[in-house]
Amino acid sequence: MRYISTRGGMPPQSFSAILLGGLAPDGGLVMPEVCPRLTQADLERLAPLPYAELAFEVIRLFVDDIPEADLKALVAKTYTAEVFGSADITPIKTLAPNLHLQQLSNGPTLAFKDMAMQLLGNLFEYVLARDDKEINIVGATSGDTGSAAEYAMRGKKGVNVFMLSPAGKMSPFQRAQMFSLQDANIHNIAVKSMFDACQDMVKAINNDAAFKQDYKIGAVNSINWGRVVAQICYYFKGYFAVAKTVGEPVDFCVPSGNFGNICAGHMARQMGLPIRRLIVATNENDVLDEFFSSGGYHPRGLDRTFETSSPSMDITKASNLERFVFDLLGRDAGKLSLLWKGIDAGIGFDLSADDFAKMREVYGFRSSRSTHQDRLDNIRSVFETYGVEIDPHTADGYKAAIEHRDANVAMVILETALPAKFEDTMLEAIGQKPQRPASLQNLEDLPQRFDVLEADVAALKAYLVERIKA
Ligand SMILES: *Cc1c(COP(=O)(O)O)cnc(C)c1O
Repeated sequence: MRYISTRGGMPPQSFSAILLGGLAPDGGLVMPEVCPRLTQADLERLAPLPYAELAFEVIRLFVDDIPEADLKALVAKTYTAEVFGSADITPIKTLAPNLHLQQLSNGPTLAFKDMAMQLLGNLFEYVLARDDKEINIVGATSGDTGSAAEYAMRGKKGVNVFMLSPAGKMSPFQRAQMFSLQDANIHNIAVKSMFDACQDMVKAINNDAAFKQDYKIGAVNSINWGRVVAQICYYFKGYFAVAKTVGEPVDFCVPSGNFGNICAGHMARQMGLPIRRLIVATNENDVLDEFFSSGGYHPRGLDRTFETSSPSMDITKASNLERFVFDLLGRDAGKLSLLWKGIDAGIGFDLSADDFAKMREVYGFRSSRSTHQDRLDNIRSVFETYGVEIDPHTADGYKAAIEHRDANVAMVILETALPAKFEDTMLEAIGQKPQRPASLQNLEDLPQRFDVLEADVAALKAYLVERIKA
């Protein structure tokens, strides 16, 4: 499998070459040249496999330059009961007939990002050692990406992590999780602005080709293709866990921000997994709900980005959407580049009526938005009805799932974080603090290590130069 850019300006590259990069050199996102297709017989063969074997069978279709035995060992070492808490890796909790939660948050940082990031840590270490290279990961996080990346990369040889986060905007738990890491290869940078400003700074670094090359800059934020590939696997696992026969349709509902998680669902569907609907759940930052319900994609500025109680979804410019729109437009890079010119000019774009219909009818997308009150109501209602605590992001997913639910079709809601990460909202919703794994009992009391920067690209460059040269 080789990789091309959504903007059409990159000669095909191997998996390892794009794994260590961020944006394609032409500013687009990388996509597989063709999407692998599985037959009914393939699906039946995969259905009974345990997680790591299933993941290997999916991932190998996207990797062209790592020997299969090595890849298999890397995947097996990643998805273990020791790291993810159970042999199932992503256990299903059934709430009601045809209504399921797929638990993706039992990794080291208690959010679904670990599912991809733990694999990336092992892939990076392997490829860097093989090619005798080093990489400096510069990323932006609104909470969960950063900690997942840092826990996956800490102590890994050849890797430094520089993680930007919006100062004061993460939950105390999220902050403590990241800032308490004392590993020498981990650098936390609190930026005096919102998440999107952090993301823009990372983009600016990546758009400076000379700087990127001189300082060996790479990325693990949600545009990284390796993450999407790793995420595709749990759609297969969830599908096989709830489908009574291989071939029947299943709906997935996904709490969404940067569109990375649900983009993997789109890929799984393109590969032939019988997903009927992909439901995009947003919070008050509803730019994606607007797109999927009207066909108008109009990313918003910082002045129109709200701080909400599902903070990992406080995103008003969804980077991975470009991957889906590329497919929607029949992989026409020229057409896509034109639309994204509209975005760079700050006006966004509106789909044609045909493309809008195709998005819903051919690709199966639906969407919803929720508010803080909805989250409180749904956390309480799920707790009272099923005795299950869900976190605020998963509550956004629950609301969307209920709105779009068809009683005859299995619905899988992706649980994207554990409630323990969001104590204040849980307390407000159900009057009690969520349980916390014993190992994280006194997390907030640990000494924290971080630096503060203005939302200024020059300041970030100076920071990196100082530390990478030294
Ligand atoms: C990152 C994150 C999301 C959003 O996922 P995207 O891939 O950015 O759409 C939702 N919930 C939680 C808890 C997250 O950490």
